[in-house]
Amino acid sequence: MPPSSCDVLIVGAGPAGSATALRLADLLAADHRSARIVMVETSHFDSFRIGESLPPDSRALFHQLGVLPVFLAAQHQPCWGSCASWGDDELGFNDFALNIHGHGWHVERNRFDALLAAQAAERDVEVYEGWRVRDAVAFVDGGYQISLRDDEQREQTLSARIVVDASGQAGVFTHAVGARRIYDDRLVCIAGVFDLKADSRIDQRTLLEAAPYGWWYCARINADQAIVSVTSDSSTARLHALSSLGSWFAHLARTRHMGERLHGSRLTSEGLQPWAAPCFHLDRSVGVDWLAVGDSAISYDPIAAQGIHKALATGIAAAEAIVHRLQDRGADFSDYAAGLEDRHRDYLRLRQTLYASEQRWHDQPFWQARRKQGALLVASAA
Ligand SMILES: Cc1cc2nc3c(=O)[nH]c(=O)nc-3n(C[C@H](O)[C@H](O)[C@H](O)COP(=O)(O)OP(=O)(O)OC[C@H]3O[C@@H](n4cnc5c(N)ncnc54)[C@H](O)[C@@H]3O)c2cc1C
Repeated sequence: MPPSSCDVLIVGAGPAGSATALRLADLLAADHRSARIVMVETSHFDSFRIGESLPPDSRALFHQLGVLPVFLAAQHQPCWGSCASWGDDELGFNDFALNIHGHGWHVERNRFDALLAAQAAERDVEVYEGWRVRDAVAFVDGGYQISLRDDEQREQTLSARIVVDASGQAGVFTHAVGARRIYDDRLVCIAGVFDLKADSRIDQRTLLEAAPYGWWYCARINADQAIVSVTSDSSTARLHALSSLGSWFAHLARTRHMGERLHGSRLTSEGLQPWAAPCFHLDRSVGVDWLAVGDSAISYDPIAAQGIHKALATGIAAAEAIVHRLQDRGADFSDYAAGLEDRHRDYLRLRQTLYASEQRWHDQPFWQARRKQGALLVASAA
């Protein structure tokens, strides 16, 4: 059972929460300072998680977190770049072979997330799986009282001096303290895992293919399987019935590259699953005694393929801000918040460039909306 008080509570043990925990534990140890860090996670890492591509420069973040050797030992699939039919019917290649960091990765998320949380536990972070944060109430003199419930409906209240919301799209703590989401976009992805046939042409590159109604991607998640996903917006997805198995396969079959490469591979018995992909930032990502990290602070369009990298990087930055605060009670989290705003601006520019470079379906609602809204967002964030 989680304790009744701690110095820092981290809500959620995804990549952002574990990165915060790992960096915090290391910085406190280096400063010979002790603080009780608790991380609560509602799951047991036992159901499928989406999002797998990591760019080569994530290697530097694993190094900074002190987990590079264990991460490499876990032998996730290397990712050697991407091949994309984007703006052109033919495939273009973006090869990581010349990248100074080497290759990127396609990770199996359950295994990856569980590994980072286990590493945090080895550094004296108290990790409680199966515990869900339900609510938060501010104390008058600082800190928060947090209500928790576990899988067996046991309840606990915990007081924390500082809270880190790392609960991803749930944003459970930021919601409780009234932070407002500002949406850049609202996308949907309909995805399934395929058992690949023995001589499959799906290699260790991400395959990306734009279509009139959105875009497809495919990435190997282990030696035998790949994730295949189509991204659209909800009205276009409805119009094309992309959530229906038959229609999803019919659209896949009509792609120029993806369908052919998956020929002979089979969707696993789990079938297709819809995933919301809201793209947003918060009107405030920090408060006097709290910070939001990862997707709970800024949630990216999956086209950026930077969600995990951003989760790790913001976790590291948040840990540094917290240590600064523990050293100096007058310190606030404004530098951390400014860093998030810069990151959000860079992301909007990247996203705009990507959508603007696909001109084949300029009269199709999906592409029209992304281009129009992208230009407005970049202008308003400047
Ligand atoms: C279709 C799709 C494809 C994507 N592809 C990629 C990709 O290729 N590459 C990439 O980098 N990113 C990708 N992403 C985004 C990526 O998955 C996220 O950005 C990343 O998971 C964010 O990490 P996080 O730690 O902030 O949040 P999460 O990974 O969502 O972790 C949040 C954690 O909090 C826990 N939690 C939630 N509520 C509570 C609660 N009340 N109490 C306690 N714990 C709680 C959850 O169980 C979870 O473990 C994709 C997203 C989608 C939708």
